[in-house]
Amino acid sequence: MAEPLLAIEDLAVEFRTEDGLVRAVDRVSYEVHPGEVVGLVGESGSGKSVTAMSVLGLIRQPGRIAGGSIRFRGRDLRTASEREMRAVRGGEIGMIFQDPMTALNPVMTVGAQIVEALRLHQRRMSGAAARKRAVELLSLVGVPNPDTRFGQYPHEYSGGMRQRAMIAMAIANDPVLIIADEPTTALDVTIQAQVLRLLRTAQREAGSATILITHDLGVIAELADRVVVMYAGRVVEHGDVHTIFSAPRHPYTVGLMGSLPNLAEQGAPLRPIPGSPPSLLDPPGGCPFHPRCTLSQGRQRCRVERPTLIAVGAAHASACHFHDELAGVAPGVPVPGAGATDPAGGTEAEALR
Ligand code: ADP
Ligand code: MG
Repeated sequence: MAEPLLAIEDLAVEFRTEDGLVRAVDRVSYEVHPGEVVGLVGESGSGKSVTAMSVLGLIRQPGRIAGGSIRFRGRDLRTASEREMRAVRGGEIGMIFQDPMTALNPVMTVGAQIVEALRLHQRRMSGAAARKRAVELLSLVGVPNPDTRFGQYPHEYSGGMRQRAMIAMAIANDPVLIIADEPTTALDVTIQAQVLRLLRTAQREAGSATILITHDLGVIAELADRVVVMYAGRVVEHGDVHTIFSAPRHPYTVGLMGSLPNLAEQGAPLRPIPGSPPSLLDPPGGCPFHPRCTLSQGRQRCRVERPTLIAVGAAHASACHFHDELAGVAPGVPVPGAGATDPAGGTEAEALR
């Protein structure tokens, strides 16, 4: 396989808090290859955002990267200077966050912000060319009347439109990688689907690889090529999207699917994973998932031995001691991209939403 664009290896991130040391990311490794969409999924607090912030060089006190490496296009971002990182952020790596109001400047027009983003990274671009490009970008992301919208402030945009503006800014400099952290979580369900479709179009247009962070498996089904499942700061399973949905080999992944709202079957009961994620101050020994695990059932090995990721198939790995027991057990969730359509004409992936 070609060189990965991004290779995270044994990343460890900790936060010093009043109560003690929080290990938010614990020996996480994964790769992103050119053009692919990697979905990073897990319940809230599993370390998804901290992983992304590490790549962007945005971990600040009381946090620090305690170990591992982050290789991006052949260089280690951990040792990059702040100046280099400023060139990476918004340049080679585009960023989309959950709340556009924190990313957009409220006292600057949307157009001026896109122009600024363009000229910061493309010094030789004239003001007129940047303006023209900014209007094109707004049009590309489906903002109506882009010429007028160019001169408006973020508060004059609706939530969905602001998210589109942020996507326009993220792709402005043709990034090779986009990091989208819960890009649709703050939006109405109907707007979510539109923005996701747009994100896919923009991503394909730019040919950018994407790390798509979400707690929502429906979003993963819609967009991801590959899936990395995180729990309590660790990667517990990874594989291609088809495999993860049709043949998951970690009970946590199976549990996430069980707690997926709006399953295709109308009225199917919602089965959240019992319990809640552990405190990262004092995580359980052995497998961090064992207290909530239906497979573990108090087995000694789960309580004492930390599982490592082991290959369970081609490009498929699980960190469960008893992954064998899940072989051939279908989770009963529609598989994305299987091609079947519902009566409304949507795809199965859409039905998952
Ligand atoms: P998520 O998967 O929801 O994106 P995060 O990556 O934001 O989770 O956070 C993972 C964990 O890291 C949190 O549960 C928290 O314990 C810890 N953490 C994150 N940011 C901080 C911080 N600024 N100070 C202390 N702990 C933090
Ligand atoms: Mg997060």
